[in-house]
Amino acid sequence: MPAEQPGKLIVITGPSGVGKGTIVSLLLQRYPQLRVSVSATTRQPRPGEIEGVDYYFLSKKDFETAILNQELLEWAEYAGNYYGTPKAQVVKQIEDGNYIILEIELAGARAIANIFPEARRIFILPPSIEELEQRIRIRGKNSEESIAQRLEIAKQEIAASDEFDFQIVNDDLESAIAQLETAIFSLIDTS
Ligand code: 5GP
Repeated sequence: MPAEQPGKLIVITGPSGVGKGTIVSLLLQRYPQLRVSVSATTRQPRPGEIEGVDYYFLSKKDFETAILNQELLEWAEYAGNYYGTPKAQVVKQIEDGNYIILEIELAGARAIANIFPEARRIFILPPSIEELEQRIRIRGKNSEESIAQRLEIAKQEIAASDEFDFQIVNDDLESAIAQLETAIFSLIDTS
């Protein structure tokens, strides 16, 4: 593993519904040198999600085979489904000298910290739990049970946010992006 190339890996974590996806896609539009890793998941696609773009949607059996074959850099169970980072694409991007963003939950972020201690880890916070619940409901793509589960996990994740190098509150989108740019460009400048 290319541990001698510090800081190429950027981990972005934060509760479901906090707006990580929106922030990351705007950042990618502005900075073509950034790449994002496409995860594998056993969750059902949401309306509009595209195979190979949003996720690789796998059956439970195929996901378990990928775990056994050690094809995943990290994986975790989240709200009843598996999520994991395909190893090959991340290793290739790092070898090619690209900056690669992983948008993953807490257990995965902790696993990456063990494998790549030099990774820059950023946590996106909601302005409040009430606002987070509102955002998950507005997205309108989760059942009541799934909303309750996601809010419960969110509280646990937020409690661990100080493990990260940067904490950014996604209150105003542009301001959150500006803070993320600072976090990433300070990384680019020093590498
Ligand atoms: P969602 O179902 O809302 O797309 O994602 C649920 C959670 O899984 C989010 O916190 C998201 O960041 C996380 N996630 C997505 N891909 C991965 C992955 O490859 N590994 C891990 N550990 N978490 C992931």
